[in-house]
Amino acid sequence: MTDQRDPGGVSRRIFLQSAGGGLIAATALGIAGAKAQDAVGRPMPELMMDPPIELGRRVGYAVVGLGEYALNQILPAFGECRYSRLVALVSGDREKAERVATQYGVDHDAIYDYENYDDIADNDEIDIVYIITPPGLHADQSIRASRAGKHVMCEKPMAIDAAECQAMIEAAREADRLLMIGYRAHYEGHNREAIRMIAEGELGRVRTVSTENSTRIDPSSPSGEWRIDAELAGRGGALWDVGIYGVNGARYLLGEEPVEVRAMSYTPSEGFGDVVDAVGWQMRFASGTIVSGSTSFAVNANRFGVAGEEAHLDFQPATSYYEHNLNVRDEDGVRQVSVPHEPIQFALQLDHMSRAVLDGGEVDTPGQEGLQDIRIMTAILEAADTGRPVAIDWEYGEAG
Ligand code: NDP
Repeated sequence: MTDQRDPGGVSRRIFLQSAGGGLIAATALGIAGAKAQDAVGRPMPELMMDPPIELGRRVGYAVVGLGEYALNQILPAFGECRYSRLVALVSGDREKAERVATQYGVDHDAIYDYENYDDIADNDEIDIVYIITPPGLHADQSIRASRAGKHVMCEKPMAIDAAECQAMIEAAREADRLLMIGYRAHYEGHNREAIRMIAEGELGRVRTVSTENSTRIDPSSPSGEWRIDAELAGRGGALWDVGIYGVNGARYLLGEEPVEVRAMSYTPSEGFGDVVDAVGWQMRFASGTIVSGSTSFAVNANRFGVAGEEAHLDFQPATSYYEHNLNVRDEDGVRQVSVPHEPIQFALQLDHMSRAVLDGGEVDTPGQEGLQDIRIMTAILEAADTGRPVAIDWEYGEAG
């Protein structure tokens, strides 16, 4: 049937199908000019960002735990990395690990399980072990990786309690290896821009901050089950899992540490296993800035608000995976802040650690950063349990 909107369409298609006489056909269509022999190479153009280094020189990662976050966010991000590559997998499910290894081009000989995990010591391709399992397993897996001579990237929350964090820091120090906590928001553009604006005084003196970081979980799903089990998740439940974004966020936005906390909590009798659900807290920072935070496993929320004497910053979502919305309101109105396009935050985080390994440098979110949050969150729970304020004016990085 002839297309009535394009009466010439049929003859044009027939003409192209007999395309042995390509030049005649092209001329008939009005595509004049360049011929095959006019195609030439040109020198390297100026690049807009650092090019990737050769594959063989990139820093090799072993990923431990092939769950939701590893498979949906971290593994795909290796495709955007310039300094990092995936070289090994550690999983309790061999069949899944083999499927993933094939998808990502990982050698099947570089698949480990939780029993032969220590054999990673013999694999020179592995520079960094990235632990993405429930927090109750982080300390054991991190310490063993350090002892195997590997650098460690560990997901948040760093561990169940401060003693475990301290042992992880000690093991990395003894092995003379790096330990970094996966605080991806530190490497994300909008968050970095918010930090800059506050540090450079664009909001004026900041008086109050509010943080709301919650996620509705399904306790019957594989990733929900362990989140309501205190041994695997930490007794702090939602606070340990997502409230931590508010605790850490207030600290990086303000660039200072809290000195006192008050809190309250409420956990319905059913549906939250043996962990705490909703927690609300207030922290007073050294400068006098007051931070109010909240978290729960029963709702969804992802928001930071920063009120300065000259402008107010409204950040929602603030720490999501793919979307950030940062607005500044001052006497002239509301302005949306945009940041230049760059690789996704998961890739920036991976490459940040790889650069530190390649250059023999430090990381921005070391074990001490994870320890500080665990100590503060422990104090929040104590304040909620006792109904009394808790002093948290220790030195940053000090053992708990
Ligand atoms: P999942 O439950 O989806 O995955 C955890 C994986 O850990 C499992 O698939 C399993 O991998 C392994 N595992 C080993 N032992 C156990 C066990 N006893 N119970 C459950 N899993 C076990 O969790 P998530 O991926 O959501 O979270 C993992 C870690 O990543 C947590 O620390 C979490 O806080 C953090 N996270 C960080 C995010 C961020 O934005 N930075 C976002 C989401 C999570 P296998 O079958 O391969 O052995």
